[in-house]
Amino acid sequence: MADKKLDIIPLYEWGMFTEPRPSVVAGPCSAETEEQVMETAKGLREMGINVFRAGIWKPRTHPGCFEGIGVPGLKWLQKAKKEYGLKISTEVASEKHVFECLKAGVDLVWIGARTTSNPFLVQEIADALEGTDIPVLVKNPANPDLDLWIGALERFNRAGIKKLGVIHRGFSTFDKIKYRNDPQWDIAIELRSRFPELPFFVDPSHMGGSKDFLLEISQRSLDLGFEGLMIESHCNPQAALSDAKQQLTPDELSDLLYKKITVRDADSDSKEWRDNIDQLRAKIDVIDENIIYALGSRMRVSRQIGEYKKNNNIAILQTSRWDAILSKAVEKGKEYGLSEKFLKDVFNAIHEASVEIQNEIISDKSSE
Ligand code: PEP
Ligand code: MN
Repeated sequence: MADKKLDIIPLYEWGMFTEPRPSVVAGPCSAETEEQVMETAKGLREMGINVFRAGIWKPRTHPGCFEGIGVPGLKWLQKAKKEYGLKISTEVASEKHVFECLKAGVDLVWIGARTTSNPFLVQEIADALEGTDIPVLVKNPANPDLDLWIGALERFNRAGIKKLGVIHRGFSTFDKIKYRNDPQWDIAIELRSRFPELPFFVDPSHMGGSKDFLLEISQRSLDLGFEGLMIESHCNPQAALSDAKQQLTPDELSDLLYKKITVRDADSDSKEWRDNIDQLRAKIDVIDENIIYALGSRMRVSRQIGEYKKNNNIAILQTSRWDAILSKAVEKGKEYGLSEKFLKDVFNAIHEASVEIQNEIISDKSSE
């Protein structure tokens, strides 16, 4: 089924983000005390942040953890807004949260990963937001279900929310992986290609789960062309009541954003660049045609081998032969600077297609 188009107001017309990339939402995982909110907000404002985040209601995995300060924390956000001219944002997970945020003048809300997974809650929140023009950022659902993510976007858009965007924070896994949540970039890329007009943020804090991974994830996300980052920052990360390991001080965040990450242009209007890139792309196109031609020839020979095996009543797979092909390819590939993993991936795909064709030939009774 073709996607319905979303009716979206571009990010730079929301009145809170400006070019160049990245647009940043930063602030603590949770609002904890007035002092912590104000000190963090001051530090962030001084290093150039415009949009401040702080969780007021926290969806925690286990009971008994700090579950957010609740409504009193909204006053501290209002104070940060008033004193430092910041736009303020928080997560909403129910109709009640929305009403409290609207009363408190919250400028942007986001939908948490656990909430996006629940269409009842998403609809309830969308209904509560109907008629407002508050921007909404929808995090991916905790499970890697692109349709569920798109469904949530459709619910907000149907409720008239046009300042709508997404936050990619990775997906839960049972397996132990390097990051707290699995990026599965292919899902993010698929969403971007289906809705190129949709503002796209990445949340390296919840994806990585540790401040050690913030640089590599932020860089990756910028290199993929995404325009925004949501990053957790706390005036005293070690003492944070939630997500202590993944938060940066405002100074560390400044270092990350202005010294460590490299922002590359998505494209350029320069004539010289255009001419050079066009030439290189023309070369790539020819090479790709040759690859396809070579694959076609290989498949034809593979088919002949299949016929020959059939006529001699020989099984399709001779593993020793395949092992020899693979190790020869890996050896040869090294001379050309190709990694073992890459060659194995490519040759395994070729082999699979080849076995499939020979299988068809062997099981085709019509030629007997
Ligand atoms: C958050 O941003 O504070 C949060 C709880 O994140 P997530 O929904 O991605 O787990
Ligand atoms: Mn957090």
